[in-house]
Amino acid sequence: MYEENYLVKALAYRSQARLLFAENTELVRTACNLRPRPMYPVLRVALSRTVSAASLLTGILKDNQRVSLKIKTSHPDYKIFADADSWGNVRGYISDELLNAPQEYLRHISLEKMIGPRGSLQITKDIGMGGTFTGITDMPYGNIVDDLSYYFQQSEQTPTFFSLSIEMDHSGSIVRSRGVMAQLLPGGPIELIDRIKHDLLFSNFEDMQAVGKEPVRLFCGCSKDMLTPMLRALDKRELTDAYAEGRSIEIVCHVCGKSYQFQPDEIAGISGIQ
Ligand SMILES: [Zn+2]
Repeated sequence: MYEENYLVKALAYRSQARLLFAENTELVRTACNLRPRPMYPVLRVALSRTVSAASLLTGILKDNQRVSLKIKTSHPDYKIFADADSWGNVRGYISDELLNAPQEYLRHISLEKMIGPRGSLQITKDIGMGGTFTGITDMPYGNIVDDLSYYFQQSEQTPTFFSLSIEMDHSGSIVRSRGVMAQLLPGGPIELIDRIKHDLLFSNFEDMQAVGKEPVRLFCGCSKDMLTPMLRALDKRELTDAYAEGRSIEIVCHVCGKSYQFQPDEIAGISGIQ
């Protein structure tokens, strides 16, 4: 069943703060279900928080801007990624090394331990004219949500906080996901951020006016053409054998898990086999 996912943008406190509210249950659930095999709870929590945050960040983008998030845990190959554009397209994935980490590790580790003392959060945003801004901070909270608030304070000197609510059932499937992002606008007094945090408990924000409601969705944007280089990068022998035996080769998008079949004649054309 398809549920509408959207972002509501609002101004409050005499336009001293912007508030973003995301209803993104379907988006977050689908992002966690794209992989063919069940994901351990620690990975679901990490991915769902990262993707939910990315859907909120679509609300601070203009025109054709994009933003990407990279969470690096204390293990150099264990990473979580998400990106989003100003049109509400969001995607997210976990590095293969982390997805395929030893079961013993994934079964017992907490998110805080997995991120650990050397975890980092990197956000890259395009700022127009082909330029990008990349900020990176450590992750003192190890829970992604408070680390995002910390990132905006440290890296962009903008008092910000995130609140994500993600409910899972006993099987780990996501039944509900919502998020709130609050950010002070220039001139907003710094103590206002604590007041907004308090007001969030009662969902009662002073002088709030909605200024827009926009859809958000999970969208990868991959195509067979985009994955052709991955076919070309395969071992020549593998390509020749497949062609000789009349077999197709499957290439899977590592972002969304969608698979593309290359038929023998396509394999021949792409790899130059006669
Ligand atoms: Zn894809």
